[in-house]
Amino acid sequence: MLNRSLALSALCAVLLAPGLASAQGEVNVYSYREQKLLQPLLDAFTKDTGVKVNVISASSGLEQRIKTEGTNSPADMLLTVDVARLQDAIDAGITQPIQSSVLEKAVPKAYHGPDGAWYGISMRARVVYASKERVKQDAITYDELADPKWKGKICIRSGQHMYNNALFAAYHAKHGEAKTEEWLKGIKANLAQKPSGGDREVARDIAAGKCDIGLGNTYYWALMNDKEADKKAWADATKVILPTFVGGGTHVNLSGVVLAKHAPNKANAVKLMEWLVGEKAQHLYADMNYEYPLLSEVKINPTIAGYGALKPDALPLAEVAKHKKAAANLVDKVGFDN
Ligand code: FE
Repeated sequence: MLNRSLALSALCAVLLAPGLASAQGEVNVYSYREQKLLQPLLDAFTKDTGVKVNVISASSGLEQRIKTEGTNSPADMLLTVDVARLQDAIDAGITQPIQSSVLEKAVPKAYHGPDGAWYGISMRARVVYASKERVKQDAITYDELADPKWKGKICIRSGQHMYNNALFAAYHAKHGEAKTEEWLKGIKANLAQKPSGGDREVARDIAAGKCDIGLGNTYYWALMNDKEADKKAWADATKVILPTFVGGGTHVNLSGVVLAKHAPNKANAVKLMEWLVGEKAQHLYADMNYEYPLLSEVKINPTIAGYGALKPDALPLAEVAKHKKAAANLVDKVGFDN
């Protein structure tokens, strides 16, 4: 009975969707996220609202593309990760403020830009991957990464990668120039090898015994553990520790959205953004990307929840973004990547 009604509603959706889509219009999403990952979510939005979603995916250059397209740009919104990229889009002059009381109400203050400049949709945290075998402790501070006890034991990707840049920028915002320089020097002195690879390779190198700890984003470990059979051994050899700033919480970053300056389908873009912070989308989005939902009432994926209770640092990400240049300069100054 249930199956029959499901089949019937699926049939209706197929028959009705094209008509609804043209009646309700469309929205053009430029995205730094893989279309394959997004499609189930966007299909659900179209099913709910009748609005057709067109996606243009790329791994770089979308801000420039929107800029070049100018007033004729079909872009309605840009979906991206990292507050630095959201800020880049704003700095490039290709956005307009998002006016929505729904977003204003749903998204916690720390996770949107001033005056609706950008809104976060989901969260990820920058955490420590540690050898299960060689690291006994289950708590750590970001400060401790500079402790000489880790000499020759840390693996990390480039200090200029946006994930590390945002963490270093947050440290800079909290502790200022001199202390951040000292901290970065301390971490550099502890590195087992020249910064290289990505977050997954940190787990790989820990598994291979090249280092004991390193930094990675929360979702990579979960992907390796749950979805990437060829990398399962790297997850098996490591554990995730949620580090904290001294007197603070864990550094988080976002995936989020901005509204394009010349959005031809502005109302539909706002409709999609509002839908994305609704309970259904939050659940789908967080689950398929292994991210933390922004809505506290939405259940966290069990693998991610297994890391322990996340206490996001309270420093607003808009504040962190202001320190990214200073952090990048210090990374160069201490020769972090050399
Ligand atoms: Fe990533």
